[in-house]
Amino acid sequence: MGDLDGRVAIVTGASRGIGAGAARTIAAAGAGVMLAARDGALAETVAAEIRASGGRARGMACDVSDLAEVEALVAATRAEFGPVDALVNNAGVIEPIGAPGEVDPAAWARSVEINLVGAYYCVHAVLAEMRARGRGVILNVSSGAAHRPLEGWSAYCAGKAGLAMLTDALALEGGEGIAVYGLSPGTVDTDMQVRIRASGINQVSRIPRENLGAVEAPARAIAYLLGDEARDLSGRELSISDPDFRRRAGIA
Ligand code: NAP
Repeated sequence: MGDLDGRVAIVTGASRGIGAGAARTIAAAGAGVMLAARDGALAETVAAEIRASGGRARGMACDVSDLAEVEALVAATRAEFGPVDALVNNAGVIEPIGAPGEVDPAAWARSVEINLVGAYYCVHAVLAEMRARGRGVILNVSSGAAHRPLEGWSAYCAGKAGLAMLTDALALEGGEGIAVYGLSPGTVDTDMQVRIRASGINQVSRIPRENLGAVEAPARAIAYLLGDEARDLSGRELSISDPDFRRRAGIA
């Protein structure tokens, strides 16, 4: 029994990194969790680990930039666990890394299609039912890059800035009973940071691996925000480095 007992959650980008950690923590708190990633087999491997430790989970292939795949994901979640109570828009890519005048325009557009449009597709696929039920949680995984430019990351910064505004727009008119949050997870030791280090571009690429945060802190924060206790924070973009928020979420 946990804070999310009986709830149903979708976590995108849950095959590894922050999304996999969040799915594990949400399932341990009692929710049924659908884990989505383009590599559905890897998402299902994480789901199988969750089931082996007593949780309810399933993994599924879904590219969030494909509306039909997103709609199929939501339908499969409803069939497996019931109506969706919570959506965690975590799927994201850092590429392309490079100067705005030099990166491939198609790769730039693709980044925004995943980081922003994909998140919107997921919102669109769950919102009508959440509104009809008068309850739901939408959590967008944000970044410091949403609020300040970083060299070489124009696509990522633009996509995350747009996602932060989508959080604001949903806070304004998502609907009665729908809680919405942005969460900046900190600089976390995941595959994304491996690619950032390899680029050698900007100050983030020079952060030593041992100084990166563990996945467990944002995972805990995400699970906390999905629960009823966090409701008064709805509409806010939260940061894992905020001491008050860490205390509330039970992060050491
Ligand atoms: P990661 O280790 O690279 O994992 C990214 C996840 O997203 C994977 O499961 C990946 O699986 C999935 N994904 C990528 N494109 C997708 C698509 N089109 N459709 C569905 N799933 C997709 O990254 P992470 O560090 O855990 O990042 C998770 C989130 O936190 C991202 O939104 C990122 O921007 C944000 N964030 C991370 C950091 C950090 O320091 N790590 C800092 C600030 C914000 P597939 O490749 O199989 O699709």
